[in-house]
Amino acid sequence: MDDADRAGIDQERLEKAFLTKRTETQPSRPSAKQCIECGVDIPEKRRQFMPGVQLCVECKTLSESKR
Ligand SMILES: [Zn+2]
Repeated sequence: MDDADRAGIDQERLEKAFLTKRTETQPSRPSAKQCIECGVDIPEKRRQFMPGVQLCVECKTLSESKR
């Protein structure tokens, strides 16, 4: 095997790893229609913009500021 072949295989592996990672980061649960914290309706636009979203803007901001 020469260097060109090896480089090709590395490239292929990197692309596969990248694709796997992308698949793993896809949310497995659908966006919640209502916030799981306070129950307020989550706007359709927010659900489309943030797939898998479970919190309204307010609760999301609160949970992030707690840390
Ligand atoms: Zn909320």
